[in-house]
Amino acid sequence: MAVARALAHEAEKLLACIHCGLCLSACPTYLQLGDENDSPRGRLYLMRAVAEGRLPMTSEALARHIDLCLGCRACETVCPSGVRYGRVLEAMRADLARERLTLGQRGARFLLNHVFTSPMRLRWIFAPTRWLRRRPFARRLAEGGLLPARLKLALELLLATSPEADSIFTLPRERRPSPSASARGEGRRVAFFAGCVARELFEQTNRATKEVLMAHGCEVEDPPDQVCCGALHAHAGELETARALARRNVRVFERCAAEALVVNVAGCGAMLKEYGELLAGDPEYAERARAFAARVRDISEYLIEIGLRPGSRPVGLTVTYDAPCHLHHAQRVTTAPLELIRRIPGITFVPLVESEICCGSAGIYNLRHPELADRLLHRKLEHLRRTGADVVLTGNAGCLMHLRRGVRRAGLSIRVMHPIELLALTYE
Ligand code: SF4
Ligand code: SF4
Repeated sequence: MAVARALAHEAEKLLACIHCGLCLSACPTYLQLGDENDSPRGRLYLMRAVAEGRLPMTSEALARHIDLCLGCRACETVCPSGVRYGRVLEAMRADLARERLTLGQRGARFLLNHVFTSPMRLRWIFAPTRWLRRRPFARRLAEGGLLPARLKLALELLLATSPEADSIFTLPRERRPSPSASARGEGRRVAFFAGCVARELFEQTNRATKEVLMAHGCEVEDPPDQVCCGALHAHAGELETARALARRNVRVFERCAAEALVVNVAGCGAMLKEYGELLAGDPEYAERARAFAARVRDISEYLIEIGLRPGSRPVGLTVTYDAPCHLHHAQRVTTAPLELIRRIPGITFVPLVESEICCGSAGIYNLRHPELADRLLHRKLEHLRRTGADVVLTGNAGCLMHLRRGVRRAGLSIRVMHPIELLALTYE
């Protein structure tokens, strides 16, 4: 095969597709658009055509169909041939990013390579957004018709990160498990991966995660020099930046004498678990990255592994669960979140139809393709409405924002929370 650069390394994964079509009914974009080119099989066919020199990299159709992919990896879960679609997609996007970029993509690339690589710059960029989300005029602005559609959408998503977005999270600070008291338990040591957007905008979720870990007798290390996991970069085809971030995180967490590296954002967890593959070609880091990846656990996985101890305060709520794609499909962590949720005292659990189908958030997909993202969101909200639940739980920052915005706009009285926040409420 005369193949393009990054795609060249994934050529055998392309050949693994036997064109059976079993992935079509699992693919959200195919289900919405009904075009084979917007299915996993169709996209793989297009990528193979590029790899074999039958389709130029400059093809408009190629760029459009690859761009419309959510990267949800539902196709990987159902594929009998084990096609590693996510890896091939990232390689294709890396090659496309070198070939052609729209103005918007250039802007996103600048932010990814020059802002998301630096915790200090991220802090500066997010400081005004943290201020803005607490201002009453911001809500009025989001509800009014003055802003251009894309800006209004971004503001709505920002407002959905406000700690007051779901006022259920109001347990007084002094009633939360005390770190110093609870850490005296079994002497487990864990390192916490705080995430970049999560550290800046989901402080209540991160705080709840640390508190629950401490209530389990864990001493929690949160290295201040950790950086973004690189997931947004890899998904956008910025693989070299993703590798640079991965090397930095490997160095930082090597210094932590922790039995596990715990993460509460599904998208970050999926990326961190794939560092071994991302750095496989780096002689200095390949082995270190594999060792790093082997320690990574989603918070639900880790708590079930060490023996979950829910608190004693019943919450008295009807609860449902929406599985984040990067937990369910990319990490294949399917039972631990459900087990955790079912053991929260005082809940009635109701299953959600199509829980494992993407809500349309998909990183920044909802900002880039708002129409299709909203169609997926609408379908999700219809299923949510039928559950009659008080709370929907989901373990990914992007899904939390997207679902909260949707619930608010639809006028549903459902709170959207991370499972760990609800669990944290049960401790005295
Ligand atoms: S299920 Fe797997 S092998 Fe079958 S068409 Fe889809 S990607 Fe190819
Ligand atoms: S990653 Fe998701 S949207 Fe993309 S082809 Fe696979 S199932 Fe479809």
